[in-house]
Amino acid sequence: MKNIDILIIGAGISGTVLAERYASLGKKVLIIEKRDHIAGNCYDYIDENGILVSKYGAHLFHTNEESVWHYVQKFSEWYPWEHKVVARVDDKTVPIPVNITTVNTLFGENITSEEDMQSWLENNRKPFEKPANGEEAVLNRVGEKLYEKMFKHYTKKQWDKFPAELDASVLERIPVRNNYDDRYFSDKYQALPKGGYTQLFDRILANNNIEVLLNTDYFDVMNEYSGFEKLFYTGPVDRFFGFKHSMDEKLEYRSINFVSETFEQEYFQENSVVNYPGMEVDFTRIIEYKHFGNQKSEKTTVVKEFTVDEGEPYYPVPNPRNQKIYDKYKEEADKLTHVYFVGRLANYKYFNMDQAFKNALDLFASLEEKDSENYKAVI
Ligand code: FAD
Repeated sequence: MKNIDILIIGAGISGTVLAERYASLGKKVLIIEKRDHIAGNCYDYIDENGILVSKYGAHLFHTNEESVWHYVQKFSEWYPWEHKVVARVDDKTVPIPVNITTVNTLFGENITSEEDMQSWLENNRKPFEKPANGEEAVLNRVGEKLYEKMFKHYTKKQWDKFPAELDASVLERIPVRNNYDDRYFSDKYQALPKGGYTQLFDRILANNNIEVLLNTDYFDVMNEYSGFEKLFYTGPVDRFFGFKHSMDEKLEYRSINFVSETFEQEYFQENSVVNYPGMEVDFTRIIEYKHFGNQKSEKTTVVKEFTVDEGEPYYPVPNPRNQKIYDKYKEEADKLTHVYFVGRLANYKYFNMDQAFKNALDLFASLEEKDSENYKAVI
């Protein structure tokens, strides 16, 4: 067996950043990844139409974190990409998040100023002092009309639950704009890596101190590895503990079926992402990858996303049942020394990419500060 200082499970953002940081200290790092590729859910590749597509759904990078922006720029050039999303509602096409244009188009209004939009929302919203569930949270923000057209059925498709069956927290912070801003995100930095995410991860991992073992499930080989200083685990937390607190029921996740089609035409739709918030179709959105970076091809690749119960775990389902199960695992995880649970699956929490970068960078900084203090105390 080789000499390993740091063992990392998972080659997504969390595992890759920790590997790079420890390798930069001269530590020997092994990453074990069960899939046949690096980059976790950010993985992208050139498909049969010559178009860069993301295997696990479109990934738009956006952040206000200077440290994260600084870090990712070291490994790739980035081009500015201000993401926009539109929705098809009642045969109309409207911007998402809801803004002045959305309300004017859907309800035949003639709002022209932030003040007018504010009063439209005030007149339509149904105030709840303390919304008890997702439905009350949305009604409190935007009222019945927008709730019915934009949120009720989309939520059902996304979570297989109506908003009334979800915690208020899930829908409390839905973005609504009082102006014409039609950007999906409002963060300071919004960009995509030139050459794609897989190339970015490849470059982060380009260090002789890092070895990546693909196609290997950690739990099949765990007994072969020992004697390392630290283990970073980025897989599902309940799997690590053999599902022992799950009372025959696993932590719930929502998954996505990605259904890809090729069209022999230049473009299929006018925008990279078109959402379908209504019940007239089963899918939640259609992505046309060619739009990202204005790629050229005679054909176009289009992917429909169907949110489903079974499959790869993507979105943790935030409700009291799952929180209770997760808390038990967290208690056990906290007792372990030299084993760290990092990233979205290990923390049973949805992270945007920048949060995943930041968590990994912060964890490294906190451990190394601590370790160097220990080291100083020993010498
Ligand atoms: P992951 O990327 O999931 O990496 C974990 C890795 O561990 C995986 O590769 C997995 O195969 C591996 N693994 C698990 N168990 C084992 C095991 N037993 N043995 C070996 N390997 C194992 N964020 C944004 O900022 N913008 C977006 O537009 C965006 N879009 C998204 C769209 C979708 C559909 C999804 C699901 C997420 C999106 N995200 C987006 C979030 C982004 O994907 C996450 O922030 C990021 O993937 C988190 O990285 P991670 O390292 O925590 O997890």
